[in-house]
Amino acid sequence: MESGNLSENGNNGGSPPPPSSLIFLGTGCSSAVPNAGCLIQPSDPPCEVCSQSLSVPPEQNPNYRGNTSLLIDYSQGDGLHNYILIDVGKTFREQVLRWFTLHKIPRVDSIILTHEHADAILGLDDIRVVQPFSPTNDIDPTPIYVSQHSMDSIMDKFPYLVQKKLKEGQEVRRVAQLDWKIIECDCEKPFLSSGLEFLPLPVMHGEDYVSLGFLFGQKSRVAYISDVSRFPASTEYVISKSGAGQLDLLILDTLYKEGSHNTHFCFPQTLDAVKRICPKRALLIGMTHEFDHHKDNEALAEWSSREGIPVQLAHDGLRIFMDL
Ligand SMILES: [Zn+2]
Ligand SMILES: [Zn+2]
Repeated sequence: MESGNLSENGNNGGSPPPPSSLIFLGTGCSSAVPNAGCLIQPSDPPCEVCSQSLSVPPEQNPNYRGNTSLLIDYSQGDGLHNYILIDVGKTFREQVLRWFTLHKIPRVDSIILTHEHADAILGLDDIRVVQPFSPTNDIDPTPIYVSQHSMDSIMDKFPYLVQKKLKEGQEVRRVAQLDWKIIECDCEKPFLSSGLEFLPLPVMHGEDYVSLGFLFGQKSRVAYISDVSRFPASTEYVISKSGAGQLDLLILDTLYKEGSHNTHFCFPQTLDAVKRICPKRALLIGMTHEFDHHKDNEALAEWSSREGIPVQLAHDGLRIFMDL
C-alpha cells in the first residue's frame, strides 16, 4: 500500500517500521464468524465461510472474526509503549489468547468503549487477565473512558467492577480494577488516553442510539467507527477531506453485503460513506459470514482502482504500523 507512514505487518522495504501500530483484535459482527447457528443448522448448500472454520485453523483463516476491537500500540519512538484497547466484547479472552501472544502484547494500559452493547463490553470481567496479579486487588486501576450512557448501563451489568469500597463483612474477591472516566459525546471535547489524544465521534447506531467512533493520531489521522447507521453532519465534517481534513486511514463498519440495516451500515452505505469522506485508505470491520475475505477483497480491489481510494476488508490479527 503506497503511503509514506503506513506499512503492514512491519514490512517497510528494509527500513525500520514506524514505532506505533494498530492491531485488529476483532473484525466481526456481534454473533462473530463463524456463526454458530450456521454450523449447527447448516443451509443447503452449506455456508462456505462458516464451514471453512471446521477445517482451517483460525490463524490461517481470515474469515474467522471476533467482535470488533482495536489495540493501539502507541510509541513515540523512545522505546516506551502504551497499549490502548478499544472495546472488550464477548470474544475478548480468545482475542488475548490469539493476538496478544502472537504480537507480544504484555498488558493493557487504558481502555476506551464505543458503547455498551454486548459485543463491546461483555469481556470486561476478563480484563483481570491483562492486569498484574494481586490477591487483594492492590494494583493501579486501568483507566477506562466511557460515555455517561454506557456508564449507567455498565453499573447495572457489572456492579462489582464499578463498586469502590467493600461493604462490611464482604470478602475480597479478585476482580478487574478499573478507573472509570466519563467522556462527552461531543466531537469538540478531546480526551487523553495513555498520552494519545482522542476525539469522540458521535454517530447514530439506529436512530434511537448514539455510539462513539474515535479520531486519533497527530502524525497520521485515523478514524475508527465500528457501529454506525448514519453520520450526523457535524461528525462527518470532522473526518472528511472536504471538511476538517483528509484521513490517512478510515476504519469503518459494514455488516451485510447487500441492502440496508436499521442499526449498521451495509456494504452499499459503507462504500458511499468512503467516497464522501475520501480518506487516503479505508479498512472495513464488523462483517457477518456473508463476507468472504479473499473473494470480496478481489472485488474491492477493482472498486478501489476505479474510485481511487484503496479499500479492503480487515481481518483479525492484522497489524498496521504507522506514525501516530
Ligand atoms: Zn455461515
Ligand atoms: Zn452495538
